[in-house]
Amino acid sequence: MNANIFVNLMHFVMVFSYFVDIGLEKEGWFDPILVIAALKAKLSSYGVQFVTGEVVGFGWRTSLAASPVGPPHKRSQLVTVHVRTEDGRVYPIQFAICVNAAGPEACNIARLAGIGVGDRALALDLPIMSR
Ligand SMILES: Cc1cc2nc3c(=O)[nH]c(=O)nc-3n(C[C@H](O)[C@H](O)[C@H](O)COP(=O)(O)OP(=O)(O)OC[C@H]3O[C@@H](n4cnc5c(N)ncnc54)[C@H](O)[C@@H]3O)c2cc1C
Repeated sequence: MNANIFVNLMHFVMVFSYFVDIGLEKEGWFDPILVIAALKAKLSSYGVQFVTGEVVGFGWRTSLAASPVGPPHKRSQLVTVHVRTEDGRVYPIQFAICVNAAGPEACNIARLAGIGVGDRALALDLPIMSR
């Protein structure tokens, strides 16, 4: 099947499933695997690349920031996420915006990014963790 037809068909299935009441107990339902497959297909058609792996760390860039009231101070900025892929190698992926969507692991991922460690402004943990 032509990739575009597949993507459009999946799009239709998503919208149809969302709006039409086809549950046996008068409730709507949708197939989450199909929705994700459709979403990935659509995003791929826009050129998005997917990487399967585990986030194991982050990389920072440190620079000197000028200050109007005192000497320049050191400023650290997250610039890469380090992902271990199935072959065991760790790849840095550069980003402008990074979304932490790790569910109950979100707190641990945040710690890798320096949130919830130390005693300064970012000392508070992200309050999303396993019960
Ligand atoms: C038993 C059970 C039944 C549920 N039933 C329902 C229900 O019927 N209806 C409902 O609405 N909700 C239900 N929920 C809740 C629902 O599953 C969650 O609210 C939802 O999945 C949260 O989505 P999420 O994307 O935030 O996180 P998740 O779905 O937890 O996704 C987080 C992802 O991050 C990945 N990840 C974690 N650490 C790393 C790492 N270091 N590197 C890379 N990836 C990582 C994980 O592998 C996972 O794929 C249920 C939950 C449970 C446990």
